[in-house]
Amino acid sequence: MKTLVSIHDVMPDTMGEVAEQLQICSQLGVGKVTLLVVPGLNWTTAQIEQICKWQAGGYELAAHGWHHKCDTISSLKHRLHSTFLSRDVAEHLSLTSDQIAALMIRSGDWFEENGFKRPELYVPPAWALGEITDNALAETGFCMVETLRGVRFPKSDRLISLPLVGFEADTAFRAFALSVFNGIVAGTSKNRLLRVSIHPHDHKLRLQDSLRKILNNSDESFDYASLGIGYGLQKPRKAIV
Ligand SMILES: [Zn+2]
Repeated sequence: MKTLVSIHDVMPDTMGEVAEQLQICSQLGVGKVTLLVVPGLNWTTAQIEQICKWQAGGYELAAHGWHHKCDTISSLKHRLHSTFLSRDVAEHLSLTSDQIAALMIRSGDWFEENGFKRPELYVPPAWALGEITDNALAETGFCMVETLRGVRFPKSDRLISLPLVGFEADTAFRAFALSVFNGIVAGTSKNRLLRVSIHPHDHKLRLQDSLRKILNNSDESFDYASLGIGYGLQKPRKAIV
């Protein structure tokens, strides 16, 4: 099985869990992992240095929202999404197109301001991109934007549809729903590149065995940059020497 593994919600409060998960991935032979960093929080210098070390060690970084929390929930659509899927993290959903674009650009800027290369990938919290126009999305400068359906390439207006499994099972109901969902995905997506989305506490929650099994079954792991190169949608990055 080929996998595209990402760890969501890399935040000041989750650095310990993220380190544990990177160790588990490494032990199970998954070398490529993408870290989804939430910029707009109270980062310490030591924590930023740790992320720098992870990047230097070969882990890809992606921008993941701004502060990962909604300021307001103003529309019915957003309220339903919040109740059934995203709780209060889908910070794009009550914003206008211009506001979403500004949030994404600010998120990307944070990486450069803190000594990182600007990420090629943006993942909106809860994969909820909101009502941003195609032109505004292309102008944010991100090569790739991940949604529930797959990975969008805004500059070429292409979408690579990829199956997704998740393990954020902090209640019995979510464990049941995710098990059914993951089972359907696994049964219908054989031989396709599988997105494995991990949240920072998943290795201690109800689906921890299922998560380890999927990681253990990964024969080859990819990051998002290699995905773009493989599909010929962006130029290869320069080799780091
Ligand atoms: Zn998130």
